[in-house]
Amino acid sequence: MSDPGWFDTGARVAVLTAEPIGKPLDYRAPEGGCFPGAFVEVPLGPRKVLGVVWGPGAGDFDAAKLRSVIRVFDVAPMREELRDFLVRMADYTMTGLPQVLRLATRAPGLGDPPGLRKIYRLGGDAPARMTDARTRVLDVLRDHGGAGFHLGELAHLAGVTTQVVKGLAKTGAVIEAEVPRDLPFARLDPNLPGKALSDAQAQAADALRASAGGYSTTLLKGVTGSGKTEVYLEAVAHCLAQGRQALVLLPEIALSSEFLARVEARFGARPGEWHSGVTQSERRRLWKACGAGEVQLVVGARSALFLPFRDLGLIVVDEEHDGSYKQEEGVLYNARDMAVLRASLASAQVVLASATPSLESWANAQAGKYHRLDLGARFGTAEMPDMGAIDMREEALEAGSWIGPTLVSEVTQRIAAGQQSMLFLNRRGYAPVTICRACGHQIACDHCDARMVEHRFLKRLVCHQCGETKPIPTKCPSCEVEGKLAPVGPGVERLAEEVTRRFPDARLSVLSSDLFGSARALKEAIVDIANGGADIIIGTQIVAKGHNFPKLTLVGVIDADLGLQGSDLRAAEKTFQLMRQVAGRAGRAEEKGIALLQTFQPEHPVIRAILGGDEEAFWAQEAAARQAQGVPPYGRMAGIILSGPDLQPLFDIGSQLARNDAALRRVGAQVFGPAPAPIARVRGRHRVRMLIKAEKGAPLQAALKGWLKGLRLPNNARIAVDIDPQSFL
Ligand code: ADP
Ligand code: ZN
Repeated sequence: MSDPGWFDTGARVAVLTAEPIGKPLDYRAPEGGCFPGAFVEVPLGPRKVLGVVWGPGAGDFDAAKLRSVIRVFDVAPMREELRDFLVRMADYTMTGLPQVLRLATRAPGLGDPPGLRKIYRLGGDAPARMTDARTRVLDVLRDHGGAGFHLGELAHLAGVTTQVVKGLAKTGAVIEAEVPRDLPFARLDPNLPGKALSDAQAQAADALRASAGGYSTTLLKGVTGSGKTEVYLEAVAHCLAQGRQALVLLPEIALSSEFLARVEARFGARPGEWHSGVTQSERRRLWKACGAGEVQLVVGARSALFLPFRDLGLIVVDEEHDGSYKQEEGVLYNARDMAVLRASLASAQVVLASATPSLESWANAQAGKYHRLDLGARFGTAEMPDMGAIDMREEALEAGSWIGPTLVSEVTQRIAAGQQSMLFLNRRGYAPVTICRACGHQIACDHCDARMVEHRFLKRLVCHQCGETKPIPTKCPSCEVEGKLAPVGPGVERLAEEVTRRFPDARLSVLSSDLFGSARALKEAIVDIANGGADIIIGTQIVAKGHNFPKLTLVGVIDADLGLQGSDLRAAEKTFQLMRQVAGRAGRAEEKGIALLQTFQPEHPVIRAILGGDEEAFWAQEAAARQAQGVPPYGRMAGIILSGPDLQPLFDIGSQLARNDAALRRVGAQVFGPAPAPIARVRGRHRVRMLIKAEKGAPLQAALKGWLKGLRLPNNARIAVDIDPQSFL
């Protein structure tokens, strides 16, 4: 794309909007002209919509009917680098450009003039009369710390009418205030001294500084607690000192208050924050400041990648192996891969940090495409935990219990010594299956091909696919016999019952995302545990990430075999990562930790690799296996998901596509399927999958485009193309 630099009044310009039209439309530049990349408001039918001046007009529209741009917003134009990125990303992910543009314009009120605005924030006095609605408003305000909200937004978040908020304002429990729009961000000082680095850390930091200034990607691999964060904060400091902007992407951002505090301690001020928990006015403020170059560092979730940075010099992707970087709905993209793409266009540096990298990044480092830095040991005196297997074939397990005698005895010892134990089970709810003991019927979701999971805490059955819930019935919906429904298998809630039974005096904390009403409550629970407020912690995978529990010396994995079942191509890799991450929670302070895995297959190669601790050997073995099969990262894949209310038409379309595969065969790609998806129905829609495999260098997207060209779908059917699929469900 080459920019002419400026469009005069009345010139033909192409404007891209986020509306599903497919391509930019021609308009006339407004009075006073506009820059390429300008954010504008244009008429579209009877509506006014946001758009971006994409370039010179195509000239394919009758000049007499051409409408004018209504106004140019007072924000920095979208830079060519970002426009380029969006185009390339749309091509790569095979999505429409408007949908991708929408990711980059998720800040409401971009066109609002600066000035004063009225916000509502928490006041001091409790109202004399409390109602449910009032409580909800105050809860929202407390959840967001000191933040203020627009009237409408606050009412919406609390699920109340604006009258409730105004009523609270009269009592003084909520304060109404006029504040200037968009306060500037406090300056971060990159020259403040960081922590004194160990030799290994200092070398890694030097290496990152040496490759700054242009595009490069570095895999920063180090065991949990080795100081990866300290090291990449040095790269951030270097980037800020050059006057460029930095972005740190984190998974599960809502839990990162610990992280923000660390950044503040390092640079003397808080960075910009971008994630779903940030208020709309904060989003808009950050979005504008990014474009104006007035925020130096942004810490955010994957969608922060689409912010209009003025001069992006560094992107850190922390926990780069984390599955949540892949967006599985709407635009299907992997933020880790897209970070590398954006950085290459912005001449920025990328740091991918992980204790257990994805095989993709490991292989790119092996191939010399990425630099690689290793931090071998934990910082200071902390040591990595010992790891061992508990052979469940030799443990006498009582019926309805899941903690074997060995683990019971280990936990008992920890309680006596005043230390903490964590029991890890990656299953939410009470029991994964509810079965009728009279007829064998299993209760399933009415809309999905999934069993309902009993959540005793909520007193309901929940579908983990679509979120549908229903009361727990007393009689079987199939044979109608009373009182025969029984839970089968454990979830964390059921495990909690067992812990309470076995250790009645221990203080128990259960960390599962659905047991907390808000991110704040979860954060508080985590802080409480870190301060020693629990003896036993039961957790799902939310505990695997980044939390520091100094008193924790034992991690017991209830079912290490859980992830090994199924045919997912990454089953081994994911189990290895999760087990090593969970084990890494133990022994982060002076006391050495141990991680014990309950398993029925202690000889399984993956279990042995996890226990053996020879990570390089595991990666090499896993890489060889994938290479032999020609699958990612040594081959390319695309998932095709056909969905619709009726099954047969989907199969017909799939079969027809599979037969007419010339465009794919031309590049050596193969089609597998159609087959019913493992989750064959979601929200009442049937799902049929196909899989395309190709060699690494094959021009897969171009071939797919050719293959799907001219495809006509019935009105109610959809096709989704998932490039580099992570999930095969
Ligand atoms: P990682 O990101 O690899 O898990 P962190 O950077 O979080 O590791 O470091 C683990 C702990 O060790 C943190 O509490 C951190 O503050 C501390 N730490 C790491 N490096 C140093 C250092 N050079 N000086 C002091 N404390 C450090
Ligand atoms: Zn469902």
